[in-house]
Amino acid sequence: MNKLDTALVTSALQEAGFSLSESIKEAGIVLINTCSVREHAEQRVLSHLGHLKHMKKSRPDLVVGVIGCMAQRLGDKLLEHEAVNIVCGPAEIPQISELIAKAVQDRQKTLAVTEKIRRKGSQQQRRALEKFESAYGIEDERIGGQAFVRVMRGCNNFCSYCVVPYVRGPEVSRSPEAIIEQIRKLADHGVKQITLLGQTVNSYKCKHGGRTWCLADLLEAAGDIAGIEWLRFVTSYPSEEFFDQIMQVMAGSPKVCEYLHIPAQSGSDRILSAMNRNYASRWYLELLNRAREIVPGISIAGDLIVGFPGETEEDFQATVNLLEKARYKNAFIFKYSPRPGTTSDRRLEDTVPGEIKQRRNVELLAVQEKISDELSRQFLGEQVQVLVEGLSKKPHLDSAEAHGNPQLVSRTATDYIVVFNGPESLAGQFVKVKIVKTSPLTLFGRLV
Ligand code: SF4
Repeated sequence: MNKLDTALVTSALQEAGFSLSESIKEAGIVLINTCSVREHAEQRVLSHLGHLKHMKKSRPDLVVGVIGCMAQRLGDKLLEHEAVNIVCGPAEIPQISELIAKAVQDRQKTLAVTEKIRRKGSQQQRRALEKFESAYGIEDERIGGQAFVRVMRGCNNFCSYCVVPYVRGPEVSRSPEAIIEQIRKLADHGVKQITLLGQTVNSYKCKHGGRTWCLADLLEAAGDIAGIEWLRFVTSYPSEEFFDQIMQVMAGSPKVCEYLHIPAQSGSDRILSAMNRNYASRWYLELLNRAREIVPGISIAGDLIVGFPGETEEDFQATVNLLEKARYKNAFIFKYSPRPGTTSDRRLEDTVPGEIKQRRNVELLAVQEKISDELSRQFLGEQVQVLVEGLSKKPHLDSAEAHGNPQLVSRTATDYIVVFNGPESLAGQFVKVKIVKTSPLTLFGRLV
């Protein structure tokens, strides 16, 4: 979601005549797009602001803006920071070029946050967001041939630990007409893979043309667009509503990638209830089984939180059990950190000591690593189709067979990362790769 917001803001500013700078030293304006989901992310922003404050001593004209969820959460408190000129929440980003112009001309601090964030917003605000979204639905230049498209904003679930509903507002689904039109435009510009985005993307619901559209309908309609080859969607909330329909479209359409990211968060029903997640672990595992029955070969990923207030060893063991049974391709494991304003922060004490959170985190990672390793090994000797994203960040394989080609990173439909040597011109193309080596999180191969 933040990557998309960054791409939209970059594109809007380029349209307004600004250009992207290669380094912070050359930049006249620095924008930091922020995330409030974990405390660590916010601390990193504050540390960046500390450096910028220092920098502004010798460059007082430098304009610094903080955008995104942290801007919405902290508002004028953040504006008080010596380094900061602009604070702009996620729903206010359509104004970003005017806010910058104002900060440059008037040298005044500017605040643009949404006051009653849990209200659906005025017609005017929604129209501005929609215009901003569809006008600048650009391709992510770092990942050839692929683009993100937001299908909904906000969340209504209020998981007790989560700050998202308070900074991104209520769930609002975009009209299917606008989404399909945006995807069509992206396909015309050579985009082959679309990732549909929503905090709970599977709860997408919108009345249009005399019927209610769900995510399955969107996937079907997007699959009919010429030029679009692969469709993905993140993130799903474990829910019955539309689940079978979505899985059936995945099974029936060669364009919908067989990948599901569906966080469990805990394996203990007691903790799930304290988290305000509306399901039990057994039902969650049955849901995964159902997905695997409808879509054989689907790969599934999940998120887990360790050290939620009151989590006992028994609760933690229940999470280990769930992880063993879920057989995720990979899992994102987080240590609980209280987020101000959330229910768990207001009502529950952060009882689990840091070292226990750390130990549980390491233990879960080890369980998952073993599973990921077993699943990855099944690819040895196989040929897989991948979409090439671009140059790989780190050279993993010895380059004896590289023949002067750089190392590229690519992804299968099932979301496995595949690294191989090949010409950079393959970025954005589909190719076949034979897997010659595996690790828990990466497959290594040779271009066929
Ligand atoms: S579903 Fe829960 S965890 Fe996900 S964004 Fe909504 S409140 Fe946060």
